[in-house]
Amino acid sequence: KLGNATAKAELGRAAWKLIHTTFARFPDKPTKDESEALRSFVHLFQRLYPCGECAEHFGKILEKYPPQVSSRSAAAAWGCYVHNIVNKRLHKDEFDCSKIGDFYDCGCAEDGAEGKG
Ligand code: FAD
Repeated sequence: KLGNATAKAELGRAAWKLIHTTFARFPDKPTKDESEALRSFVHLFQRLYPCGECAEHFGKILEKYPPQVSSRSAAAAWGCYVHNIVNKRLHKDEFDCSKIGDFYDCGCAEDGAEGKG
């Protein structure tokens, strides 16, 4: 099958953006239920990811590095780490994970008072 590299890359950028922004908005002190929701989200994201080759590789990464769901910072650091594993495989530059802090802004600062602003 002849793939479409542009579409695959576009999907990848959108998917990473959603993943990292979700982690950047995850609670600092999640409830058990919130942590389980994030764990499920990551596993279902892998299972349903439309690029089959990508999903397969990402599944192997998840086996080795299970999602870290104990806090926002743990989730964000984990997301950066696994994205870097994919970057390395695709011969892309490594992202400096110490710079992840404010990089992913959801544009939703106005959402309510739960310290999520
Ligand atoms: P992307 O890797 O899409 O990154 C987008 C932006 O995120 C970058 O420009 C940078 O600003 C930022 N960024 C980069 N690294 C990090 C990091 N470590 N943490 C936080 N932010 C970062 N493509 C394939 O061809 N084969 C695959 O097997 C494959 N597997 C994938 C698996 C998953 C789960 C996902 C989501 C995507 C996968 N892709 C795969 C797509 C690939 O990762 C890229 O999204 C695509 O090649 C476009 O790359 P890009 O250079 O535009 O930047």
